[in-house]
Amino acid sequence: MAIQIKTLDQLKTMRRAGLLVRSTLDLIKSQIKAGITTSALDAIAEANIKRGGGTSNFKGYHGFPATICVSINDEIVHGIPSERMIMPGDIVSVDCGAIVDGWHGDAAFSVMVEPTNQDSLKMLNVCEESMWVGISTGAAGAKLSDIGHAIENYVNSQGNYGILREYGGHGIGTAMHMEPHILNYGKPGNGPKIEAGMVFAIEPMITLGSERTKVLEDNWTVVTVDKSHGAHFENSYCIAPDGKPFVLTEVDGGKANLARFGIEISNLI
Ligand code: MG
Ligand code: MG
Repeated sequence: MAIQIKTLDQLKTMRRAGLLVRSTLDLIKSQIKAGITTSALDAIAEANIKRGGGTSNFKGYHGFPATICVSINDEIVHGIPSERMIMPGDIVSVDCGAIVDGWHGDAAFSVMVEPTNQDSLKMLNVCEESMWVGISTGAAGAKLSDIGHAIENYVNSQGNYGILREYGGHGIGTAMHMEPHILNYGKPGNGPKIEAGMVFAIEPMITLGSERTKVLEDNWTVVTVDKSHGAHFENSYCIAPDGKPFVLTEVDGGKANLARFGIEISNLI
């Protein structure tokens, strides 16, 4: 299947979806503290997406019952909001998406509730930075598999982390999950050339232990087999018609973070 190519107008609509996702994630982040339930966070997300004129792309997705995924500690992704209370020292990963005028946005972050520890905080930083390494590598002209190769190299250069194998990034546009699937590891130089009009969600998932995971009996929550804690960061970025990247789910379009890699973002969006 071909990778969907978006026009500038379509990318501008995706920008609106991306900003709605970002404002929702920022709101949730501000509310994460010991004692709040994950379903309370979900309600905040649902209200914010509605207020912004969007709809959730998670709710009802293959039967998923909520607006966000909240995954705690050894849960890495796809956790279902519930009456579970966030506890001191938890690592909380939140994934959120929204549809605006038919176009999708998708992003995620992880954060650690006090009291923190250096090993966990470093893992969170490594995961977030590996996302930026991936996005900066996925500039126009690169081959798709260069992204995962760069993510893997960076993560491995920082310590002994597990990189999830069964889950990865994806194309996004008129649906949340579109071609291609984007691995967070592998050899460079393979797959299609990255071109203007493409939009990808880049989402590394790493752990303090093994990369092996299993799905809980709720058929959604992905946990590590060795119970090690993990992190998940995600942004959706595009290549604009001028050939420059733009991160649709960051307020500044990724300007500051991509500048660290010597990459200028598009000013068309
Ligand atoms: Mg996501
Ligand atoms: Mg995604």
